[in-house]
This record gives sequence, structure tokens and C-alpha cells, in this order.
Amino acid sequence: MKTIEELTRPNIRQLKPYSSARDEYKGVTASVFLDANENPYNGPHNRYPDPLQWDLKVEISKIKKVAPEHIFLGNGSDEAIDLVYRAFCEPRIDNVVAIDPTYGMYQVCADVNDVEYRKVLLDEHFQFSADKLLAATDEHTKLIFLCSPNNPTGNDLLRSEIEKLLHGFDGLVLLDEAYNDFSDAPSFLSELDKYPNLIVFQTFSKAWGCAAIRLGMAFASTEIISIFNKIKYPYNVNLLTQKQAMEMLHRYYEIERWVKTLKEERGYLEEQFAQLPCTVKMYPSDANFFLVRVTDAVKIYNYLVGEGIIVRNRNSVALCGNCLRVTVGTRTENDKLIEALKAYTA
Ligand SMILES: *Cc1c(COP(=O)(O)O)cnc(C)c1O
Repeated sequence: MKTIEELTRPNIRQLKPYSSARDEYKGVTASVFLDANENPYNGPHNRYPDPLQWDLKVEISKIKKVAPEHIFLGNGSDEAIDLVYRAFCEPRIDNVVAIDPTYGMYQVCADVNDVEYRKVLLDEHFQFSADKLLAATDEHTKLIFLCSPNNPTGNDLLRSEIEKLLHGFDGLVLLDEAYNDFSDAPSFLSELDKYPNLIVFQTFSKAWGCAAIRLGMAFASTEIISIFNKIKYPYNVNLLTQKQAMEMLHRYYEIERWVKTLKEERGYLEEQFAQLPCTVKMYPSDANFFLVRVTDAVKIYNYLVGEGIIVRNRNSVALCGNCLRVTVGTRTENDKLIEALKAYTA
């Protein structure tokens, strides 16, 4: 593997980061804060929040079994995805490789950052081959994007291929585990020490039920996390988000219960869908959604909209012709969907 220093863009390597008032004074003994031009009234919202969200990282660390120094928190996973481009990819020179189809933000961030995005098609089981991804790389390939369970296909990627890629690639492997809570496959978080070129993304937006607060996590070596900390906006995670996340961490039992229920509901929906006349093929899912090939995705999508039910039409996505992506809801919501589809006539 190349060193992180070699992989980092020269301007980022040389960057002298912005130093905020809260960075310069980190002690806890002071009681009069006249250093940041804050308004002394309207506490606690008058004060800038902790730029490195240390208390929150300590709590996350307990649940994820990863030391706080290996954690980056951002305004959604989307911030972390954008940061990897800004840190490692020289516009118009470097490139990245990704499986296809997958989560759309990897390509959007590539386009925004003017970085070439190379797609490698999955096979008919929505699996990838490490050799095929490696064959698409060259000396300017800095990153490879994987997503497991993958969006929109819903399946876990093969662990053996992920490991093969981690061993065979000399750049960084980004593994998006946004849906890992719903999978029976173990997370790669426990492998961080083994793979210095691995970055794992997770999020509060799905299993944690907190899409509104915008909190994403990246886990990686301390060297990589330091680079993220150097280039992120100083106060990228606001106080309200930090507080709400803390509260959720203390209610972890509830998240576990939601996940268990949603996995059961997924099984229920899969059984029901298998019996619908409009279902052509069900794809197995390890996430809180599933992909289903139907007789006519556009017509059925529009029909459901008319019934007040919104699913995701993935018809125009590679390998997903006539496919709908359905998020698992409550039993009431799921039954409404099933009843509507039973009443559908082509
Ligand atoms: C939903 C999702 C995310 C979450 O993004 P946030 O910015 O944290 O809300 C990340 N990756 C994938 C693949 C997703 O589907």
C-alpha cells in the first residue's frame, strides 16, 4: 500500500488549518469565556460547540468498540464522502473506482470535485469481483468505493472479495456500512487495525432513526482521521445534533428493538411480495429495504403514488430494469402497500 502521506493531495499535506478559539483553549478550569466573540446571553446555545465532539465520540466508542481517535463525525455520511475526495483526489488527475449500481452520492461528489469516476458493473447476483475492480485501477486511482449491504440492491457484498481488495489495492478502500445494523454479516470495524487502507462509513440516519439530525461516522486509522479533522469545517456538527445523538446512545436498547422488528417486517413483506401477481423477481435483502422486479415499474410506481404510497423507482439504474426499491415500514404501512398492490391490475 502507498503511505497516507503519498495518497494525500499536496495542498492538503501542506495545509495550515484554521485554528478556532475553542481549539486554542481546551482547558476546563476557566469560567469566564471572552475569547470567541459569543453573546454571553442565551445559554447554552450562545456557545460554539466542541469542534471535535469528544464526549459524543467517547459514547460512540463504547458501542462500536473503536477508540475515539479512530472516529470522525460529520454532517451526515455525505460530509465524510465529500471529504475523502477533497483530501485524496487531485481534480482532473486522480480517479476513483466504484461498484455499479450503488449509492448515488459517490458519483455526485466525484463530479463536484472534478474527479474521474470509474464504474464496474456487478454480476447478476449483485456481487463484485476484486480482480475486476483492480483491473479498472491505474496509478492515479486513489479510492475504491464499496457499499455493503449495497444500495439499491440490498445485499451484503462477499466478505472474501472485500478482503481480497483490501490486500490487493494500494490506495484506500471505502466501505459504506450504512445498513450493516440490519445484516447478519459482521461489520468491518473490528478489522480496522489490520487494514490501514480501510475507511468504514456508518450513519445515524437509518437504524438509529435520526436522519433529521444529520450525523455520519467515519472510522479509520488515526492518520486518516487527523486529515479529516484538519480540513473539515471547524464546527461541522452542531450542538443540537450532538445532544440528540447522546440521548439516542443512552437509549441503545430501543435501536436494537427497532432493528429486530424491521428485520421481521422485512421477512413479512418478502413473503407477501412473493405472492403478488405483479412481482417478477424478489432479490434477497440484508438491509431495511429490498429490491423487487415487477411487471412494469413505471406504471406500478405511478399507480402507488395515486394511492398515496411512495416507493423508489429504480427502473433506470444499471441492472435494475423494472425494479422498485421498497423501504420496510411499520406493519400498518406495509399492509397498505400490499393491499394496494393486490388491487393493482395492469
Ligand atoms: C442513506 C445512506 C447513507 C446515509 O447518508 P447520511 O448522509 O448519513 O444520511 C449513506 N450511505 C448509503 C449507501 C445510504 O443509503
